[in-house]
Amino acid sequence: MKILFNKSVMGHNPNCKVEGPYRLSGFSHNRSCSEVNTAEKLMSLVHSPEHIDKIKGACKNHYTLAEARLSPESYISCVSSLNLGLEAAIENNFALIHPPGHHAKRNEAKGLCLFNNMAILAKYLQENGERVFIYDFDVHHGDGTQDIFYKDPEVFYFSTHEEGKWPYTGDTSEIGEAGGRGSNANLPLPMGAGDDILKDSLDVAAKLIWNFNPTKIGISAGFDAYSKDPLGNLNFSLGGYQYIGRFFRELGVPTFAVLEGGYHNDVYDCTRAFVDGINGIKIISPQTKSDVKMIDHFQETKDKLLEKLD
Ligand SMILES: [Zn+2]
Repeated sequence: MKILFNKSVMGHNPNCKVEGPYRLSGFSHNRSCSEVNTAEKLMSLVHSPEHIDKIKGACKNHYTLAEARLSPESYISCVSSLNLGLEAAIENNFALIHPPGHHAKRNEAKGLCLFNNMAILAKYLQENGERVFIYDFDVHHGDGTQDIFYKDPEVFYFSTHEEGKWPYTGDTSEIGEAGGRGSNANLPLPMGAGDDILKDSLDVAAKLIWNFNPTKIGISAGFDAYSKDPLGNLNFSLGGYQYIGRFFRELGVPTFAVLEGGYHNDVYDCTRAFVDGINGIKIISPQTKSDVKMIDHFQETKDKLLEKLD
């Protein structure tokens, strides 16, 4: 797995202290990607024409939308992000995109998200005959991605996230609707959960993936469950992220990833650890531990989810 990056994704929100381009420092520019037509065709796979026009206009006019301050450069960042994402989705690489996407819905920008990059790429792959399983380990629940595929049996959405956190969705009871019932799963993690709980949550992922039998896995890689993240209260370490990478390597299903959150100076190290894991490099082991109370609570949540899906 290679890390794909184009510095034009840094043009969005340049002065933001939370979701600013500082997050992407350390990576080297290695791709050209400014194909507006390709990106807009991709956007329309998931988003309505009204939504695309609204974001475009807001970027042109320097409006603030949801929690993001926009500029013409923001739109360029979105276009470049989707071009990088497409390349990553086809060739099983990691796209360093900015802004993130997993809260964006068909007709709604939400939080820091304008277009739902992962949902768009999953839809593209689905239309090209792939059966896609999305795994989202951002500290926040990807309510946008869940919403987009909630009634769709052909794309599975699985999220682990901090329990009780904004956007306050992602309960174990949310398992999809209509034909999509049983192809959505949420495993909320207790505040303070460390790498040991992360490892256990991957056992659940393995079970779901085994049953769903995907031809492609898309990972919404948000690094805000990291121990040093100011927005999250989970306690994953670099060793934990490397373990996730090794887990997906061992699974052997073609896998790509896009960046979601992660609001600290170690996004480079976290991404590197994850990608090293997927490339079969083992340098660090899972490090952080949860206390007994957290583990007991997690077991109860896990049982609830498995019971619901049975
Ligand atoms: Zn997040």
